[in-house]
Amino acid sequence: MTQLPLLPGATLGVMGGGQLGRMFVHAAQSMGYFTAVLDPDASSPAGRVSHHHVQADYLDAQGLAELARLCDAVTTEFENVPAPALAQLATRLPVTPAAEAVAIAQDRTSEKAHFTRLGVPCAPYAVIDSDADVAQVPDSLLPGILKTARLGYDGKGQVRVKTRAELAAGWAQLQRATCVLEQMLPLAAECSVIVARGRDGQMVHFPVQHNLHRDGILAVTTVHDDVLPAAQSAQAVAAARAIAEGLAYVGVLCVEFFVLQDGRLVVNEIAPRPHNSGHYSLNACDVSQFELQVRTLTGLPLVAPRQHSPTIMLNLLGELWFDANGVRSSTSDTPVAPPWDQVLALPGAHLHLYGKLKAARARKMGHLNITGATVETVRATALQAAALLGIAAF
Ligand code: ATP
Ligand code: MG
Repeated sequence: MTQLPLLPGATLGVMGGGQLGRMFVHAAQSMGYFTAVLDPDASSPAGRVSHHHVQADYLDAQGLAELARLCDAVTTEFENVPAPALAQLATRLPVTPAAEAVAIAQDRTSEKAHFTRLGVPCAPYAVIDSDADVAQVPDSLLPGILKTARLGYDGKGQVRVKTRAELAAGWAQLQRATCVLEQMLPLAAECSVIVARGRDGQMVHFPVQHNLHRDGILAVTTVHDDVLPAAQSAQAVAAARAIAEGLAYVGVLCVEFFVLQDGRLVVNEIAPRPHNSGHYSLNACDVSQFELQVRTLTGLPLVAPRQHSPTIMLNLLGELWFDANGVRSSTSDTPVAPPWDQVLALPGAHLHLYGKLKAARARKMGHLNITGATVETVRATALQAAALLGIAAF
């Protein structure tokens, strides 16, 4: 039995070597922990900054044994890490979040069933698993969005369908994989809440984050006191906490919401890990979502994060290396780095790049956090940065 809390000097493992794993590794290392990353890619963003990198597939028994040997506890950064891999690790050492919670978040049908069990409203939906299901879809779900139940992210594995014929074609396009069809909702806004819950049930949360998506990918997150009316914010926080509680969740959990045009709040989905919409916490809060991931994993006390600056986060997608405003290499396949020197001349601009070796369109390459004394200055600076980078104004 592992003695908790695990104090600095212990080795913390993470399943997955993407940017979330990299930022977890940075947080753990700055607190004096050693780190190990399991990822099949030799040059993964987290693997390259970690003390140890186990290069293996997520379900590779030898790789998992090696990770367990190196580590005192293991977490995950990538929601598509197979839950059975986490279950296997959990027979040898503490693993958070638990495989059962991750398994629910990995499958939109079980995720929605969990919301329904808790009485948290989500988009009306139907499970599509056969031609009969397609035929029986109620008219009220059209127009809708057909989403694969598993393995979707950043809007991948989704088809927007207006008619029954489009639904049938869309399902064929998704290889007739188990899907959910969600009613297309009239969105006024999108937001998210990140909570961290410890083994003892103690829970802390970040403020409500306002999220702007473009082409199904998060583009801009804005966080200050008034992103939503107070009553709606309170409702979002309460729902996020209820969802974590209902899963007996341990770790950092993000809950994404839709704010409908009639003011109703409905939950979209959950991510069993730190989230892109929480990256602002690295510069605008006194505790980041990654430090809280370390604390939940090691059994250290949780402290409520305090946001000390209003903030805007701009996601830096691979497009910026190619066709920003048409001024960079829009005609060539050779990526050209954005003008970081000009961006970093802006007060309160904090650049985070993930060390990905190759820029590609729609690939998350990094993010820029803007902090400042007031909401107005943050917004003005963020718009200046966006203009320099070729990101559309918001
Ligand atoms: P990620 O993992 O990046 O959060 P995802 O691939 O899991 O994304 P969703 O969050 O399901 O995808 O959807 C992506 C975006 O598409 C949402 O943020 C929202 O803008 C839009 N969207 C999804 N479902 C609906 C819906 N039922 N009604 C209206 N818009 C929707
Ligand atoms: Mg989403």
